[in-house]
Amino acid sequence: MRAESLKFLKQIVDTPSPSGYEERAAEVYRAYTRPLADEVRTDVHGNVAAILNPKAKMKVMLAGHMDEIGFIVHHVGDDGMLYFSAIGGHDSVIPVGQRVWVHGKKKVAGVIGRKAIHLLEEDEKKKKPELKDLWIDIGAATKAEADEVVSLGDVATFQYEFQTLLGDRATARGFDNKMGSFIVAEALRLLKADGGLDPGVGVYAVATVQEEIGLRGARTAAYGIAPQTGLAVDVNHAVDYPGVSKTRYGQLDVGKGPSVMRGANANPIVFKMILDAAKEDEIPYQVDVAPGGTGTDANAMQLNMGGMATGLLGVALRYMHTPCEVLSLTDVEDCAKLMAAYCRRVRPDTDFTPRIS
Ligand SMILES: [Zn+2]
Repeated sequence: MRAESLKFLKQIVDTPSPSGYEERAAEVYRAYTRPLADEVRTDVHGNVAAILNPKAKMKVMLAGHMDEIGFIVHHVGDDGMLYFSAIGGHDSVIPVGQRVWVHGKKKVAGVIGRKAIHLLEEDEKKKKPELKDLWIDIGAATKAEADEVVSLGDVATFQYEFQTLLGDRATARGFDNKMGSFIVAEALRLLKADGGLDPGVGVYAVATVQEEIGLRGARTAAYGIAPQTGLAVDVNHAVDYPGVSKTRYGQLDVGKGPSVMRGANANPIVFKMILDAAKEDEIPYQVDVAPGGTGTDANAMQLNMGGMATGLLGVALRYMHTPCEVLSLTDVEDCAKLMAAYCRRVRPDTDFTPRIS
């Protein structure tokens, strides 16, 4: 991966951005895309769109959400402990014993505490802990001490940062889905650097907000832009580790190329155009099947206004919604290439109406 691109990827995944608190990641996204785009716009919801050919009538929206899961402080105890709610979907076995950053008046270190194993009752030992039974300990001895640095509604994220593993693999907190924001920005960069985009086609590379809590940013972004077609990109469950069934979930391997979704949430013409692009440009891909609406920005996009011809790309990821998500950096790069290749095939008069041909 190009050094400047890798730097941007590290920077955006390491920047805390729980849903509703994406401003810091938005700043990173704007700084990277400003020199690449003809125009960069931020809407009132917080979505950031980097645009090529903003005057074109045919519009393509690319969406990669820049929010991540996290925690929000809802109560400060008299003992100085912080009690929190989940932002997005957490497996409650994960937070126990982790270090966090609380993003208060300053960045405050804390740990997520639970009763020690020796003090658990017999029945408690058999049950998985629930988030309501956990707290954040920042070392404050009193509520007054905690109040000096933390306010109600401050958010917290795990203390994990981007790290490369063997081969082309990497791990981070928040690949879901800041690697998606990275991919839409890279697709824009490739279109600008390598050309091939029809001058009558505008591309809107959007880092969306609040996906993890109900696809909320893609909805307002799509409405504001009113594109005829678009691709969302998100992490996708790798089915290549022990205990997950291929007969139940289908096959999806880390390192075998981006996934292209087929099913009701994908316009069939868009799906075919993506596959043609992958074959012609020799980009590896894996087909992923979704029988109905997906839990991704593609769902909100497809249902925008009178409908948007939507496609969904994915990157196979292990351990989703944990602080040690694992993916292949080559898959990430190939996904950006595939996204750019799709944009190059859109014409001002492309007809996306499903039909037998
Ligand atoms: Zn997610």
